[in-house]
Amino acid sequence: MRVGIGYDSHPFAKGRKLILGGVEIPSAKGLAGHSDADAVAHAVTDAILGAAGLGDIGRMFPNDDPQWKNASSIDLLNKAFLKVQQAGFRFVHADVTVILEQPKLAPHLSAMAECLAHALGADSAHISVKAKTNEGMGWIGRGEGIAVMAVATLTGPGGAV
Ligand code: MG
Repeated sequence: MRVGIGYDSHPFAKGRKLILGGVEIPSAKGLAGHSDADAVAHAVTDAILGAAGLGDIGRMFPNDDPQWKNASSIDLLNKAFLKVQQAGFRFVHADVTVILEQPKLAPHLSAMAECLAHALGADSAHISVKAKTNEGMGWIGRGEGIAVMAVATLTGPGGAV
């Protein structure tokens, strides 16, 4: 069994869609970034790549490469997952915590889990997505951006699920 950790953060920006876990969430502002800035997909991607020892999202999809500009990060997660599979690993489980003040994500968490599960060839029962505020503290509390933490477990080559 392998465990990987992923972290991501993005600043809010006006005139951008808010895409989290592949789901477009109604919001006055979205997140700035080279791709669609889906910080949830980015953190999960880093978690599975970390568990497989395959580096990180920035090395696999460099943000100065025009082919990834405005890319769908759920598609990037799926591409990373295919590399993880090719290396002989199987996805078991991911647990995600999104930290932001607004908007409230509770109505969207199950759709995010479904979308992430689809990219990982998994059942959504194997993906946990949670959201919490930062209790008004610091840059997250001021609504300047969001942070996401994720862990993922994989079985190693030859391992049984
Ligand atoms: Mg990112």
